[in-house]
Amino acid sequence: MGNWKTKVEKVREKLDEFDIDAILINHLPNIRYLTGFSGSSALCLITKENSFFITDFRYKEQAKIQVRGFKRMIAINESLFELIERKKILNGLRKIGFEAEHLPFSAYAKIKGKFKNIKLVPTYNLIEEISAVKTSEEVNFIKEAIKISERVFNEILSLIKPGISEIEIASEISYLQRKNGAERDAFDIIVASGWRGALPHGVATDKKIKKGELVVIDFGCVYNGYHSDITRTIAVGKISSEARKIYNIVLEAQKIAIESVRSGMKANELDAVARNYIKRKGYAKFFKHSLGHGLGTEIHTLPRISPRSDYVLKDGNVITIEPGIYIPGFCGVRIEDDILVNSTALSLTTLPKNLIEL
Ligand code: ZN
Ligand code: ZN
Repeated sequence: MGNWKTKVEKVREKLDEFDIDAILINHLPNIRYLTGFSGSSALCLITKENSFFITDFRYKEQAKIQVRGFKRMIAINESLFELIERKKILNGLRKIGFEAEHLPFSAYAKIKGKFKNIKLVPTYNLIEEISAVKTSEEVNFIKEAIKISERVFNEILSLIKPGISEIEIASEISYLQRKNGAERDAFDIIVASGWRGALPHGVATDKKIKKGELVVIDFGCVYNGYHSDITRTIAVGKISSEARKIYNIVLEAQKIAIESVRSGMKANELDAVARNYIKRKGYAKFFKHSLGHGLGTEIHTLPRISPRSDYVLKDGNVITIEPGIYIPGFCGVRIEDDILVNSTALSLTTLPKNLIEL
């Protein structure tokens, strides 16, 4: 991947900032971000002078193709940590940062036991702070993932009618995303119809769609490691005036939130734009989740767009804006787009948002 050098340089700046000699990275989405490696077993160690990529023999050939700019080390008949010990790459390092939210305790204990003279320093979001700002190459990967998902959405609309189950719709989306070039789904696809729409994370079930229901479809895929994440809520047959009113409130809340996006703004201010609108309309207690999240080599990453996040939005952030209203026992509405932050907002999602009535 093209930008490895700048990425590693940015990590090195963080080493100074955190006053550590090296950072050990074990979280696979972060390893993918730094190296392009898509396998399931790897570690990276970035010191002030060197950058090491460590995997096991199963990924020897794959690493050769995907990983550039790192010293590749392959473990055969030994664990990745045993290889690190044998190759003495930690020699001379006094303080090593680790990913406190991702390193398993067993691995932490092992390193502590093997390397008694090294101080292990917990770090939080060290890589995520860097990867929250996308390069144009990364934005293009996200755009491609969005393009695949949108094409698939348009294709499956004709299938949605009374009698089809949620899981049939989800399976079709999943199949078509991969058929259209995705490496996998971004997450378990949500298809939540009627009363199930009130479950914000209502993964598709065998419930059949009925006339007069709203159907929340939250889907996305992964292209070259990067995620798309889109939600549309559609009506099957004639819906009640209350459901239509809720749809229009969510739509307006999403629109004004997107219009207000600009770099330099705090994430909680952005969250408040949509939340206050929904509150004024009397639905505050039916919108409990955060307004959005960053997208990248992970589906949920920095920046978080929530009432508690004081992250200051930067040029190059890619975030979702996804307000929703969920009325238990009745219905749910969510509309979600993927937005590139700049001096203004650029919506990467292009699907129309006026209520689709099938
Ligand atoms: Zn989503
Ligand atoms: Zn989302």
